[in-house]
Amino acid sequence: PLKLNKGLPVKQTIENVNKIVLVSSGKGGVGKSTIAVNLAAGLKQLGKKVGVLDADIFGPSIPTLLKLSGEPRLSNEGKLLPLINYGIQSMSMGYLIGSNTPVVWRGLMVMKAIQQLLFDVKWDNLDILIVDMPPGTGDVQLSISQQLKIDGSVIVSTPQDIALIDVIKGIKMFEKVNIPIFGIVENMSYYECPNCHHESYIFGKELNNRAKDLGIDIIGKIPLNPEVSTKSDEGIPLIFSSSNEHLKSSYLQIAKTV
Ligand code: ADP
Repeated sequence: PLKLNKGLPVKQTIENVNKIVLVSSGKGGVGKSTIAVNLAAGLKQLGKKVGVLDADIFGPSIPTLLKLSGEPRLSNEGKLLPLINYGIQSMSMGYLIGSNTPVVWRGLMVMKAIQQLLFDVKWDNLDILIVDMPPGTGDVQLSISQQLKIDGSVIVSTPQDIALIDVIKGIKMFEKVNIPIFGIVENMSYYECPNCHHESYIFGKELNNRAKDLGIDIIGKIPLNPEVSTKSDEGIPLIFSSSNEHLKSSYLQIAKTV
C-alpha cells in the first residue's frame, strides 16, 4: 500500500537499488528494449553494478535480449531472485508467466504483477536499475512514475516518430510527476554505408529541430544497422559482441550520460 502524505503518495525507493533510470518511448517497435539492454551493458562496462527491470508486461523482450528463461528462484524471505547473464541482473514478467500466456489473462494480472516486479525482487546491491517501460502513457507507466523515486528518464524515438503526439504526451507525463528527462535517444537515426562510411539521413533531421523546440537534449544517435537486430535475436548485447567500434560507441555514449 502507498504511504500517504497530505493526499500525495510518497515516492518509494527500491531496496538495494541506488539509482533508477527509465527507458521509455511513445510507441512500440522503436528500439526501446534494445537500447535499455545496451544501456545496461554499457554501464556494466563502465564498472557499475546494473540490473534491468522489464516492465513491458504485454511484450516482455528482456528474456530474449539477455538470453534468459525459466522461473526465478525465491529467496528465504520469499522474494524473487533476479536472473543473471553477462553480469547483468534482470527481472521480467516473461520469467513469471512464460511466453504463451494469453494477453487477456496478463491484463488481469497487470497491476499486481507490477507491484511484485517493483517491490518484491531481491536485487544484489545495484548502482543502477534500468527500467524498460511499456510504450506510451497508460496506467502502468503512470503508476510506476508516481510510485517510484526515479533519477531520470531516457526517451527513445525514431526520426519520423518524434512529431507524434505520443512522444509529447510522454514528456508531459514525466514533467507532471517531477521526473527529470535525461534526453532523447534518436534510434535508426541514419544509415551508414558499410563500404564508404557515408552517413545517409534517410528519415531526415526533423528530430533535431523538434528536440530543440521541446528544450530537450539529444543524448545519443544510433544508426540503422542490421547487426543490431541480428545480435538482439541471438540474445547477446551488441556492446559485448560487435566489432563495429562506431556502433558500440553510439550505445556507450548513452551510458555515459545517465
Ligand atoms: P521496442 O522495445 O521499442 O518495441 P525493440 O528494441 O524490440 O523495440 O526493437 C524493435 C526491432 O527493431 C527489433 O527487431 C530490433 O532488433 C530492431 N532494431 C532496434 N534498433 C535497431 C537499429 N538501430 N538498427 C536496426 N534494427 C534495430
